[in-house]
Amino acid sequence: MSETPSFDKTQTIPIAMQLVSAGDSNIGRTRASNQDSGYNGVNLFFVADGMGGHAGGDIASALVTHKVAQVDAIYDSPESAGDAMKQAMLQANRKLSETVEQHGELAGMGTTFSGLAVVGSKVAIAHIGDSRIYLARGGQVKQITKDHTFVQRLVDTGRITPEEALVHPRRSVLMRVLGDVEDAPDIDVMTMPAKPGDRWLICSDGLSGVVPEDVMHRILTENGSPDDACELLVYEALEHGAPDNVTVVLVDLKHAGFAKKVETNAEFLGSAANDVVVENTKDRRFLRLLNPRNLPEVFGINQDPAAFLPESEEYLELILRQTKSRVRMHRLRQFLGFLVALAALGGLLWAGYSYTQTRYYIGESGNGKVAIFRGIHESFGSLKFSQLFRETSTDVNDLTLMQQDEVRRTIAADSLNDAYIKFDLLLSIEGQ
Ligand code: CA
Repeated sequence: MSETPSFDKTQTIPIAMQLVSAGDSNIGRTRASNQDSGYNGVNLFFVADGMGGHAGGDIASALVTHKVAQVDAIYDSPESAGDAMKQAMLQANRKLSETVEQHGELAGMGTTFSGLAVVGSKVAIAHIGDSRIYLARGGQVKQITKDHTFVQRLVDTGRITPEEALVHPRRSVLMRVLGDVEDAPDIDVMTMPAKPGDRWLICSDGLSGVVPEDVMHRILTENGSPDDACELLVYEALEHGAPDNVTVVLVDLKHAGFAKKVETNAEFLGSAANDVVVENTKDRRFLRLLNPRNLPEVFGINQDPAAFLPESEEYLELILRQTKSRVRMHRLRQFLGFLVALAALGGLLWAGYSYTQTRYYIGESGNGKVAIFRGIHESFGSLKFSQLFRETSTDVNDLTLMQQDEVRRTIAADSLNDAYIKFDLLLSIEGQ
């Protein structure tokens, strides 16, 4: 199935703001398939991040995307737009359950959904899961949606810090998704004021969980076009290893000016860009076994196990314990790293000091005698790199003025032997 949105592309309507949008989806560097989907539409924009065992994540996100894209339309109020999105999401949720009934092997598939519709000078938002919506306005970037994850819940209840949440191994475990698990999933719906100059970003956790916040903020607040910004964001995710699929949809709000005609090229992204074919996966699973890229997933050794687990106190406790031990390990690694760096620095200094101790020079001792010193004449503040090695019976004052000057400025030697040779040379010249 690949229904196009019901939006009439030739329609001429008065609009409060002009929307300039872009979208991109990338499989990333380690995943065998792209389970993300996205929709860069006319008045509706969203990202869906699919999940589910060995197959199904791509199907779940694509099914939901095609279903919800059907409500891309002109609304007379942000509330009706929000409600239309929510109803379409609930329908999509039922569609997922039906699909699982017919294809048991897809059990457990699900998807996140984060989307927005622009209505006049308002934005309606619908959200479930851990994909995110950000707003860049006046040089500031703010996360608008809240992740429906176990770790976010622990942050909200003050049991772990946001920093601890960042390093948790199960930070992708979700408490709410669209899927075959719940009949009436709890969807966040809200409306917010929007204005020209706003830049809205919708993304999967393959971006927000991978690219550092300051890099994301810089790209969003720079004056590049939405196309350029999308490209840069995906590029940064790839540069940071892209362990997960990456999907971004970006919408810039501009003064409408004289643009009264809606121009659009609604596009489907990621898995939803292809026809959704639910096939018997038994053969496919065998074929998947032959592809080395799929081995981690086939054997369940997935480095980022996006999964859905309904709320339970035992699970919260487990996550809490894991967070604490993970953070301890993280701190221990940081401390060990610090020790190694300290040891390396110490070794370097010791090597430098040892080198100075293979050097000698001739100079004047405290008693005014010609003397041989070990080390180098230079000092660093009150730190000296030399000590008296042997004092001779020759008074510096008995030497010619030129020799006195030479001794007081010190005569460097490469070795002790070299120092004796230079010392003899000095006295033999004096003797002449
Ligand atoms: Ca993901």
